[in-house]
Amino acid sequence: MIRITDILEKVSEYFPEADLDIIDRAYVYSARVHAGQMRLSGEPYLSHPLEVAGILSDMKLDSVSVAAGLLHDVVEDTHATPEEIREMFGPETEHIVSGVTKISTLSFDNSQARHAESIRKMILAMADDIRVILIKLADRLHNMRTLQYHSNPQKQIEIAQETLDIYAPIAARLGIYWIKQELENIAFQYVIPEEYEKIETFIKKDKEEREEYIETIQSYIQHKMDTANLKCEVSGRYKQFYSIYQKMIQQNLEFEEVYDIIAFRVILENVAQCYEALGLLHSLWKPIAKKFKDYIAVPKLNMYQSLHTTVIGPFGERMEIQIRTQEMEKIAKSGIAAHWSYKEGRSVDEKTGKTFAWIQNLVENQENYRDPDEFMENVRIDLFPDEVYVFTPKGEIKTLPKGATPIDFAYQIHSEIGSQCTGAKVNGRLVPLQYELKTGDSIEVITSKGHNPSKDWLNFVKTVKAKSRIRQWIRTLEKGRSITLGREMCEKAFRKYRLNFNNLMRSEEMNDVVKEFGFSSIDDLIAEVGYGKITPLQIVRKFQPKTDEDIEKSDVSIIDKIIGRVRKKKAHDGVVVKGLDDILVKFGKCCQPVPGDKITGYITRGQGVTVHRTSCVHALQMTPERQINVAWAGDISDTYPVRICIRSYDRFGLLAEITAAISKNSANILQAHTETKENKMVDTSFTIAVEGTDHLKKVLTSLRKIKFVQDVKRLDAFTEP
Ligand code: MN
Repeated sequence: MIRITDILEKVSEYFPEADLDIIDRAYVYSARVHAGQMRLSGEPYLSHPLEVAGILSDMKLDSVSVAAGLLHDVVEDTHATPEEIREMFGPETEHIVSGVTKISTLSFDNSQARHAESIRKMILAMADDIRVILIKLADRLHNMRTLQYHSNPQKQIEIAQETLDIYAPIAARLGIYWIKQELENIAFQYVIPEEYEKIETFIKKDKEEREEYIETIQSYIQHKMDTANLKCEVSGRYKQFYSIYQKMIQQNLEFEEVYDIIAFRVILENVAQCYEALGLLHSLWKPIAKKFKDYIAVPKLNMYQSLHTTVIGPFGERMEIQIRTQEMEKIAKSGIAAHWSYKEGRSVDEKTGKTFAWIQNLVENQENYRDPDEFMENVRIDLFPDEVYVFTPKGEIKTLPKGATPIDFAYQIHSEIGSQCTGAKVNGRLVPLQYELKTGDSIEVITSKGHNPSKDWLNFVKTVKAKSRIRQWIRTLEKGRSITLGREMCEKAFRKYRLNFNNLMRSEEMNDVVKEFGFSSIDDLIAEVGYGKITPLQIVRKFQPKTDEDIEKSDVSIIDKIIGRVRKKKAHDGVVVKGLDDILVKFGKCCQPVPGDKITGYITRGQGVTVHRTSCVHALQMTPERQINVAWAGDISDTYPVRICIRSYDRFGLLAEITAAISKNSANILQAHTETKENKMVDTSFTIAVEGTDHLKKVLTSLRKIKFVQDVKRLDAFTEP
């Protein structure tokens, strides 16, 4: 068992000025809180955090990582609290320990192997500091090394499978190949023990012969390189059992057919020598076409660099040879971790910036951090800035764009669930439908049969699917309304000319008229009338021609009459403008009327009725013929956007107080904009959602009470403050 003194010694070796005290204190604390707990191996529990810290020091990580490694299980498994950790070891250590705890408490069931990629992303996305992942990998590595003590064989297999699906690929992605390989090899023994043993037996069988072969080839290459004056190290080794097995599976081979189970590696001093060595080897042995890969010119995403080639060896066998520099070897061994260690951190330079292909954007800022500690503290990872990963109640993972809401989630599950969504619970708590989902959230959608999507949803949904389904529904709804209205308008207009619209509807003549207007069905034509794009008289004229003047006059009066009739007949709950629920109603964006405002309507071609405040400049310009009387309904449950402006002397905390005052009055903020003026004045404009003028008045009054606020007023949407 590794001892704390070994760890301290190792850390001070690769980083002489390291803060050993924090490691020492973490050790003492961990020993105290884990006291009395045992591992399944029968060892004291403390052996586990010690081994994990040992692995982290093998990765040459900073002292905070090593300390956090010693503390990684205390929050989950003992009475220790994050607050305590923060107080004793500082916020950075606490942040890392909490990050590890958060990932450890996620539970994935095994049927989710097909979602492995989402789970991996979820884990990476949840850790906003790369050290959280490195500790999690070290933790998993030690747990795999001691998996034989687990008493439940089924559980052993599950853990091993999860390691193969989730953790080994994460290690590979970070370029820490030694962890990836060790994880895979141990897991392989549990998941497919028969195959593991088969390979093991095969390799044992010709062991001596093979080792002799390795020796021969190795010294032959060394000799050739020496002759060519290429200083290098040559090594030969068995490939990992798991990668041999994968090769057998992928290429459908028997073990005997997998020739390149041994790989040679030539490590040189610089890139030029690598290509020279490659040329030399290709002149000795015939390379196999398509097997040559130049990862020096084109590094892998995790910045792995090397030349790979497979040649036909001296005995007619396939031999894989990897050629690289010492620097590349170091990166291949520990990947990104190498760059995050103190040793490397100190020499972080422009070159490193280039090597970090896949987290480049983060590293680009490194010049701002002279001190490696500062660099480490400031570089947080956000590997998937555009996505969030959330759970269904059954524990399935869904990937959504950042900013997605419960509505997006509901539509993702099923269109019907989206349409009938009335609310949602996130992690067991009710949330507003605009709630922004966070990675790790568990979501339960509340639906009610017969519930319909709301137009407002379009203001906050993020997914294309939700948007298109909501729009589709609105279109259907509007078409339905327009058909009803259009039909009434046509009946009325036809009656006036002593024609029976309902009889004519089914006539050949009408069919021709429909075609003449360019539609395929009478419903489409009638809908256009409802939308106001075609007047009923345009249709009547096809049956009984009239003069243009007549048409224009009677058109408007008919619409007015019909609307009057509809108003009496069809008013129902929650309507916005009295009686107009069956016609397309829009609010003037220019003046943003809210209940309580004096309003007037205007019949617009193609857009139904637009409602303006009576004082709106647009309303004043309306031709009287198209004006129509409208009124607010009695029982309104909706909210309406309205723009307000607050002028104040600038001071610390001002914005926070303003938003608090708005929220306290239960008004939603839809948009905010701040503009600093001369003389330390600042204009803040908000679009807020209110129920009506009384509600708005309350908000404005409470804003006026804020210290240093000079002026608060309502704006027309397009006027400048
Ligand atoms: Mn652990």
